[in-house]
Amino acid sequence: MAVSFERYEEIKDIVAHTLKIGKVNSIPICCFELASRLDIECIPYSSLSLEKQSACIQFSEEGFTLNNSIYYNDYRISTRIRFTVMHEIGHIMLNHLEDSDDAELEANFFAGYILVPPVLVYAHDKTNDIDQDRIRNLFDVSNPVAENSYNYYKKWIQRNSNLFGLSPVDTFIYNHFFSIPTTT
Ligand SMILES: [Zn+2]
Repeated sequence: MAVSFERYEEIKDIVAHTLKIGKVNSIPICCFELASRLDIECIPYSSLSLEKQSACIQFSEEGFTLNNSIYYNDYRISTRIRFTVMHEIGHIMLNHLEDSDDAELEANFFAGYILVPPVLVYAHDKTNDIDQDRIRNLFDVSNPVAENSYNYYKKWIQRNSNLFGLSPVDTFIYNHFFSIPTTT
C-alpha cells in the first residue's frame, strides 16, 4: 500500500493543527517545546539505566513512542534528534497504533513538513535563489532532510507562484508564523 494524495493533504492539516495547539511559531522549530506543549514527555536514553539503554538501542537506534512518551537516542547529533522527535510526535498526532511501512512514510512526511514548511521556505526565498545549504541553516535540519525539503519546495513553488495562490493550510501556516500579535 502507498499513502494516498488525500492522506498527504490530511497530514498537512494535522501539521497545521499541531503548530496551532503547540503555539510554536518561530524557526527553527523546537521539538521539545512543541512536545511539552502537547503534553508529550520526551525521555533521553541517557537518563535511563545502562540496562534499559541497551534495550532501547536494540529496539530502535533513534527513538520510539511508548504510552504517549517519546524515548529518543540523545547520543545522536542534534539534527537527527530533532527529526526523530518530530517523527514520533507525528506518530502520536496521526494516531498510529501499530508499525507499518505506511505509518513510517506518514510520520516522515509529518516531520519534514513541520520542520521545513514549504511556505516558510518561500517566505525566506525573497530573491528566488534559496538552496539546500540555506534551508539546512535556517531550519536546523540534516543534509538529507534539507535535500528532500529543497526538492519538495521546488515542486511546491510550481503550484504556488504567489501568495494569493496558497492553499488554506499553507496560508494558515504562513499567518501562524508571520502575523503580528495584537496588543490590547
Ligand atoms: Zn516511526
